Amino acid sequence: MHSLCPRCGGPSEEGLCRKCTLESTQLLKCPDKVEVTICSVCGSRRVKGKWQLPDDRSIEDLATQAACDSLEIHRDLEGPKMDVSLSKRGATRYLAEIEVEGRFQGQAVREGCEVPVRIRLVACDRCSRIAGKYFQSTVQVRMNGSRHLTAQEMEACRRLAVSMADSGYRSGDQLSFIQEIKDVKGGLDIVLGSTQLGRHLARAIQERFGGRLQESCKLVGRKDNRDVFRSTLLIRFPRLRAGDVVAFRGTLFEVVGFDGKKTLVRSLYEGRRSSLSDENSETVEILGNRADAMEAVVIAKDEDVLEILDPETYKTVLAPRPSKVDSVPGESVRVVRTARGFIVLE
Ligand SMILES: [Zn+2]
Ligand SMILES: [Zn+2]
Repeated sequence: MHSLCPRCGGPSEEGLCRKCTLESTQLLKCPDKVEVTICSVCGSRRVKGKWQLPDDRSIEDLATQAACDSLEIHRDLEGPKMDVSLSKRGATRYLAEIEVEGRFQGQAVREGCEVPVRIRLVACDRCSRIAGKYFQSTVQVRMNGSRHLTAQEMEACRRLAVSMADSGYRSGDQLSFIQEIKDVKGGLDIVLGSTQLGRHLARAIQERFGGRLQESCKLVGRKDNRDVFRSTLLIRFPRLRAGDVVAFRGTLFEVVGFDGKKTLVRSLYEGRRSSLSDENSETVEILGNRADAMEAVVIAKDEDVLEILDPETYKTVLAPRPSKVDSVPGESVRVVRTARGFIVLE
């Protein structure tokens, strides 16, 4: 059956002919302009009102992507292929020339348009808060009355803070940042963007080093009709450190970790695990620490004694042999020098 196209009067199978259908259909809809919002400090981008982490795409890549995303392509266009060429038109202006081709009702078609892209550089929420000295929480790391924090302990706290702030940020917490790390008398003040980060960090430090944790909160004002609080998390390091070799009720133990108020220990010669109470860990005698261990060469081995070479004086000395240490003469063992002579570690 043949009929005539109502638009051009040419032959048509039904309704508009193919040519008129194509001419009256908008295959491509392009916006007048597109904006890409980028933080000038950290490079994150705002997409649909939310800040997204910076990645390794260049501003050109982002502009091209934004132009492509802004197009509306007719859904009956089959196998659409898009070709974009981007040219720079100013410090923050680009022009995206876009060509789309595909098949529409059996016919090969091609259409194009131009989309101006503007780059807006602003500071993201996080960067403006960092610049504005914003903070919610301070983690105070302090020594115990009986000893100072070691440089390694302070460094470990610093590193823990950096990695936890980073992973909090990566999982979407915009306030997960370190405002400042201050060396203060007796320890460190770690000033943080969020109380949640403060609590996580304080708990992680306590899990690793033991000690007591105290949290306090202070009302510092009102903002947007809401009370603004700041929290302080004070961690007092314990007297004992992991790796400490202690003498308790006639047995030598090594501190292997902490669990709440308990200090976890392992007996040096038998490998038996137990724990020290809060009280006992305040009074137990500390002989040395694994971190200060040295290598010593074994001269001779006996059932429960090793003859070793003092690594500093090169004199031969005797030390009790832990049952698991099976080094033969000529091999070396790890030893800690203490007031009670050498202690051989496993
Ligand atoms: Zn027609
Ligand atoms: Zn930023």
